[in-house]
Amino acid sequence: MILKNKPQSIQHELFPFDTGMSKELLGDVLNHVAPRDVKLTITDNRVSMASIDLSKPIIKVRLHEEFLKAPENVIEALKRFLSNGNKADWAIIAAFAKKIVSENMRPARRKKKPKAGKVHHLGEIRNNVNRCFFGNKVLCDIEWGQRVVAKKRGKKSRSIRYGSWIPDLKTIRINPLLDDERVPYEFVRYIVFHEMLHSVVPGEQRGSRNYYHATTFKRLERAFPNLDVMHKLAKELLYVLK
Ligand SMILES: [Zn+2]
Repeated sequence: MILKNKPQSIQHELFPFDTGMSKELLGDVLNHVAPRDVKLTITDNRVSMASIDLSKPIIKVRLHEEFLKAPENVIEALKRFLSNGNKADWAIIAAFAKKIVSENMRPARRKKKPKAGKVHHLGEIRNNVNRCFFGNKVLCDIEWGQRVVAKKRGKKSRSIRYGSWIPDLKTIRINPLLDDERVPYEFVRYIVFHEMLHSVVPGEQRGSRNYYHATTFKRLERAFPNLDVMHKLAKELLYVLK
């Protein structure tokens, strides 16, 4: 169960949509479609995410900087709103603004130094995974979970949750059972990678259910070297760890 291969450093593009546009470009786009001149101000204001004043001769648009990375439908709604002042378009803009608040404006509780384990050091592993696979773009905490007394498990239902991603806390939590010499470094690295991937790939909604390991997730997960070996280890370790 010892893995010989060293962790590889490969840069993968996991943020294909995170390109954004410049303030100048967005200003040009809005000026092009609006009936009057537009003065665009980009802010990092945490209170007001978007305000548009159509009442003045020059239309004043103030947007949070996250709008520079807004999806196309939001930009289209912005363009339409400048001409028509339509409520439905404002609703799209407002929904995006609300999303900024909920996803990016949580109280700054970032990069706490995690407690070192006996064997594995989560802070180092997080930084390594973030650098190798996510271009250092993920900002999250990582911690060991609480040790829980193992419940009696039948053979069939034997399972261990190796890690979890807690969006509300922007935290990766790793099962303390993995802090064990019998668990290869590369396996812990894989679990951290898997949970970090959850932080950037939303679940796919199908009907009333949310699938967290849907097509996109599985495709991007293949970026991890020797994924099949990791999956095999995940099963084997169930019988080693208690
Ligand atoms: Zn998962």
